[in-house]
Amino acid sequence: MKFTDFNLDPRVNEGIDAMGYETPTPVQEQVIPIILEGDDLIATAQTGTGKTAAFLLPLIHNVITSIDQEFAVEALIIAPTRELVQQIDQQLNGMGYFSGISSIAVFGGGESAGWDVQKRAMIRGVDVLVATPGRLISHLNLGYVDLSKVRYLILDEADRMLDMGFVDDIMNIISHLPKERQTLMFSATMPPDIRKLAAAILHNPRTVSLALTRPAEGVLQAVYPVHDEQKQGLIRQLLSNRELNTVLVFSATKSNVKVIAAQLQKAGLSVSAIHSDLEQAQREQVLLDFRNRKLKVLIATDVLSRGIDIDGIDLVINYDVPQDAEDYVHRVGRTARAENTGLAITFVSPREARAFQRIESLIGTSIRRMPLPEGLGEAPNLASGEGRRGGPRSSGSRKPGKGGKSRHHRGNKPQRPGGSSV
Ligand code: AMP
Repeated sequence: MKFTDFNLDPRVNEGIDAMGYETPTPVQEQVIPIILEGDDLIATAQTGTGKTAAFLLPLIHNVITSIDQEFAVEALIIAPTRELVQQIDQQLNGMGYFSGISSIAVFGGGESAGWDVQKRAMIRGVDVLVATPGRLISHLNLGYVDLSKVRYLILDEADRMLDMGFVDDIMNIISHLPKERQTLMFSATMPPDIRKLAAAILHNPRTVSLALTRPAEGVLQAVYPVHDEQKQGLIRQLLSNRELNTVLVFSATKSNVKVIAAQLQKAGLSVSAIHSDLEQAQREQVLLDFRNRKLKVLIATDVLSRGIDIDGIDLVINYDVPQDAEDYVHRVGRTARAENTGLAITFVSPREARAFQRIESLIGTSIRRMPLPEGLGEAPNLASGEGRRGGPRSSGSRKPGKGGKSRHHRGNKPQRPGGSSV
């Protein structure tokens, strides 16, 4: 596909050339036509996918080709941090250079001149406002910002905005906008809170999802081949042997999460569980305690793997193998955020060997096997299928991961327990 296939205004195409973009990225291929058709959109896409240009290019096209030439804010872009707001505004200046589109970046914490420059621009009127929620509210409260002509609202990194507690500010800002508008929401993850916000502010949205397929660089991954009944002893040993401050343990079901938490509490560890049986306020308290390091170990169901954004998690333990291979990527993605290194350990019992192969197939690597610590007994040999105490499972009884590549592993390729990564 070529950029010219989108039939954007020639001035926008000139901007694309000036930016040095040759072909659209996958997110741009999917998102640009939807925006041009005028539909609302919810898109799962990370930084680095070209998502900013995916919304800016059609936005510039729409603004400069609109017949309504009134001098008023036509588009509002809200993003969580000043850095992101600046980046978006810079890209807008580059791509919009030949379009004569005007914009202002509105964020706090800068030099004192910033406030007056922002205020003057908003009073005079600009085509596009790119803002952090808090600073925009401060201007809005003073009464000179007119958002009544906004036709496009874009929320970028919506999950981060919710994590940072901006939801009320966002709803407040939206109350100043016309109901008739096109709303676009971008988020790296899609936790339940984001879906709730989307349901509240989007109208019949189309969805685009660019799935993650690899854990972040910097995550060290390891596997313990282990019988189900050895898992308890293994987690106790791993947690008591280490100087760990924050450990996130995932298990697939609520009941398992509760059992694991109770067992570790009994062993004297600082542990809590988080799952959908807890009230929202209780969940928030547990997360707060974990964030503040009052709590060292948090046991969670997958519901949370996509949503938790907590810095500095030392270790992620997959107590069981996620059924959906992409959940593995989301689970281990909770460690080693922002270029730190982190460790992700997965317990794999013989009945989970196939699901684990699908994960290795999805991420395209073989993960290092670790020998069980002393005193826990013999580890199973995952390759032979030995120890399937519940009887072998047919491969057809499980939902394949979205990677769908399990067919490459027909015949259970031998693994090297305790060996190095291949
Ligand atoms: P983003 O995901 O929006 O943070 O973009 C990541 C980087 O990719 C930015 O430096 C963009 O300038 C760049 N970029 C966006 N679209 C393209 C494209 N079609 N071709 C090459 N680079 C691009």
